Amino acid sequence: MEKEVIKNLLQIQEIDKEIYQLEKIISDYPEEIKKLEKQKEEELKKLKEIDGRIKKLNMEKKNKELDIEELKEKIRKTEKALNNVKTNHEYRELLRQKALREKEILNLEDEVLNLMEKLEELEKEREELKKVVDSDIKKIDRVIEEKKKKLEEEKKRLEELRLKREELAKKIDEKSLNEYELLRKKTKNGIVIGVVDSDSDACPVCFMVLPPRLYSEILKNPDKIFRCPNCGRFLTSLEGD
Ligand SMILES: [Zn+2]
Repeated sequence: MEKEVIKNLLQIQEIDKEIYQLEKIISDYPEEIKKLEKQKEEELKKLKEIDGRIKKLNMEKKNKELDIEELKEKIRKTEKALNNVKTNHEYRELLRQKALREKEILNLEDEVLNLMEKLEELEKEREELKKVVDSDIKKIDRVIEEKKKKLEEEKKRLEELRLKREELAKKIDEKSLNEYELLRKKTKNGIVIGVVDSDSDACPVCFMVLPPRLYSEILKNPDKIFRCPNCGRFLTSLEGD
């Protein structure tokens, strides 16, 4: 392989690394946005929970008020009946009933007052909570906005890198490019070409110590490409850009 080919392949490798990272970042976005939307739902749930409690208390209050109305109606009927009583016994009985109902009403009115106090507290609590929830949601929305903006930027950058890669690929002969692609598919970390230098006699990809003769050959021939006997990656001593 010629010096130019190695240089171009090294550049392609750098681009591929970045493309790989960008693709991963981009594919993680939907999940991240989903998580943020979920956080928003959780915030709203807190409000819904307190709304549910308020609704329940209001219903309780309304039922008690209806009970009071019903008792008052009964008392009115008793009062009417009092005008037409025939016996003392009947008279006393009606008065007893009336008194019982009046007492019941007093109890119910106490309970209604109690409920109203509780409702007032809850309304205040809700107001405070709403402030917090609103501000939290605003923050989350801002983060979502930023993420979407960044996603667009990263997609654009990815597009640029792909174009750049295409241009570089045109400069490399098919055989070398095919070899590179084939090796790239086999590697997990995306490193196909390892750059060997005089500091270490190990393969920079798999870290196995290279046979001394191969190592000195690589250092002596920066224009040539070699293969690691252990991991099969290309090895060169040519400095990348
Ligand atoms: Zn190796």
